Amino acid sequence: MSKAITTPIKVAITPENKCGFCTNSTCCTYLTQHLDTPRSMEDFDTLLWQVSHQNTQAYKDEDGWFLLVNNRCGHLLQDGRCGIYEDRPQICREHSNDGCEFDGPASAEDFDLFFPSYASLLKYCRKKFKNWDRRLKKAAPKSTGCKRD
Ligand code: SF4
Ligand code: SF4
Repeated sequence: MSKAITTPIKVAITPENKCGFCTNSTCCTYLTQHLDTPRSMEDFDTLLWQVSHQNTQAYKDEDGWFLLVNNRCGHLLQDGRCGIYEDRPQICREHSNDGCEFDGPASAEDFDLFFPSYASLLKYCRKKFKNWDRRLKKAAPKSTGCKRD
């Protein structure tokens, strides 16, 4: 008995149907937060503190500086659908799928600067500010902040 042979049907991906084919929904697995452009050593010191937190990175692109927090949304279902689709926030409704992660992961070309870790940002700070490693000695000695080693 011969078996029926099925051939895959090619469906054109359009902006309207694209998300329906996407099971990873990578756009729901992180958030970004726009930052004031860091300029001073103090600004970069704060940014170092921020990227010290788990799953937190920083980047600069044509729109400015951003924090990138790699944490999936609590409403994202296992199959990639949104668990609160009808009530999802406006920012989710306005998110464009043009050139999104469905087309491929973000790469170095997408950023002017990318700091995936504390170490990468520290290296940048040391290059940017000649006296970077002396900045803490300038801090007020009266500080009552945390002194744990
Ligand atoms: S915007 Fe892109 S990554 Fe997000 S669900 Fe749609 S196709 Fe997937
Ligand atoms: S609310 Fe829904 S659409 Fe918005 S990030 Fe979460 S899972 Fe994605």
